[in-house]
Amino acid sequence: MRIRGATLEMTVSFIKQTFGEDKFAQVLAGLETADRAILSSKISSSNWYPFRSYARILTAMDDMLGNADGSLCHKCGRYDAEYDLNSLFKIFYKKGSPHFIISNAMFVWRTFFDSGRVEVEKPGDKTAYFRVHGADEYASSVCREIEGWLEKTTELSGGRNASAKETKCRVHGDKFCEYVVQWE
Ligand SMILES: [Zn+2]
Repeated sequence: MRIRGATLEMTVSFIKQTFGEDKFAQVLAGLETADRAILSSKISSSNWYPFRSYARILTAMDDMLGNADGSLCHKCGRYDAEYDLNSLFKIFYKKGSPHFIISNAMFVWRTFFDSGRVEVEKPGDKTAYFRVHGADEYASSVCREIEGWLEKTTELSGGRNASAKETKCRVHGDKFCEYVVQWE
């Protein structure tokens, strides 16, 4: 499975903006050679890169600069949503409805991941179930990042006090990853 270079660019930007160049260099030094090579060279936003590298980079960041509990991956996901807003998906946020953007998440998913599909269920006006099926690779660090992305995306679409919580996860043996998104 592969992820789009834009996601790596965003992650580099998050680390540098939040912690500075020195801390980014520290994360870089702690990576496996192949992952370090990817981040050290010029990243092309439209090229595809290994999902595993992305997952490991997030984990290294969370271990070295965070509390090693995934919360920094969640924060990176929130940053990602703003990053998207300022670039690719401006049009999706103009509608003023969290359900609109969440329902279009399949399009967003295809832009950033080359396998898997997203299913969205709408059990209420202010709740959405967001499920990821079929992607052949997964990792807790990326699940936390997606959680943060869903939460901030919902806020940016006008949902107040948004929360996104993963309640089922392939890492824990479930058939798919399910995120419950709620807002006011
Ligand atoms: Zn998961």
